[in-house]
Amino acid sequence: MGNVYLTGAGPGDVELLTLKAARVIKEADVIIYDRLANPDILEMSKDGCEFVYVGKEDGRHIMPQDDINEVIYQNALKHENVVRLKGGDPFVFGRGGEEAAYLQERGIGFEIIPGITSAISAPAYAGIPVTHRGVAVSFRVVTGHESPNKKVSQIPWENFRTDDTIVFLMGLHNLPKITKKLKEVGKEGSFPCAVISKGTTKEQSVVVGTLDTIIDLAKDVPTPALIVVGKVVELRKQLEWFKGEEA
Ligand code: SAH
Repeated sequence: MGNVYLTGAGPGDVELLTLKAARVIKEADVIIYDRLANPDILEMSKDGCEFVYVGKEDGRHIMPQDDINEVIYQNALKHENVVRLKGGDPFVFGRGGEEAAYLQERGIGFEIIPGITSAISAPAYAGIPVTHRGVAVSFRVVTGHESPNKKVSQIPWENFRTDDTIVFLMGLHNLPKITKKLKEVGKEGSFPCAVISKGTTKEQSVVVGTLDTIIDLAKDVPTPALIVVGKVVELRKQLEWFKGEEA
């Protein structure tokens, strides 16, 4: 019976893969991967390695999570080295915990290989530090995926009144709802906000605005994209360094 490596692929730039992830990918008999994991990484694998795509788009599973869990388990029964490759970090909105629990319940050994999460690295490539002395003493990473119609929100919106940084993942379609909610709890319409698309890749694009202007500015932005709300966004003026491959 094999071992499953629940592995973070990093945010996009292949060089942001960890050495440990690179090692298990090179040794893998099968790699089960998502859309958000850069497919260039698969080229590092050995001859004969199998690839299983369990597409997952913008937080929405094309394949239900239960089926993904079962695919991983079945592969672990057949192969010695199974890599489950997930975008960013496997435990940051990656459902890696559920996959690990499924394996644990069935007596399959697993290891977690953390990855560089988009929540920190996409802002970094946009010249936005998620904390900065005198500007933000904390940051939160929040799901932007919660249904706008949900009566009782699990998100502690009331706590978001401070100037600290909030990064919303999976939130692009809910951007109008998110900005509205933040204004309801007391943030000014002029509060800084950025949307970063395809962060850390050559196609990275960044739009900077305010809670009032960002909806219009970001309306044609492709996914995956995340939203950064915070005064740290203003630091981009000075710290912008990564240009991607602009036309
Ligand atoms: N485990 C991943 C997050 C999975 S949730 C991680 O740690 O990065 C999927 C969401 O992550 C997307 O909807 C988007 O908000 C964000 N995301 C992932 N890769 C991204 C990238 N390269 N640029 C911007 N946002 C990204």
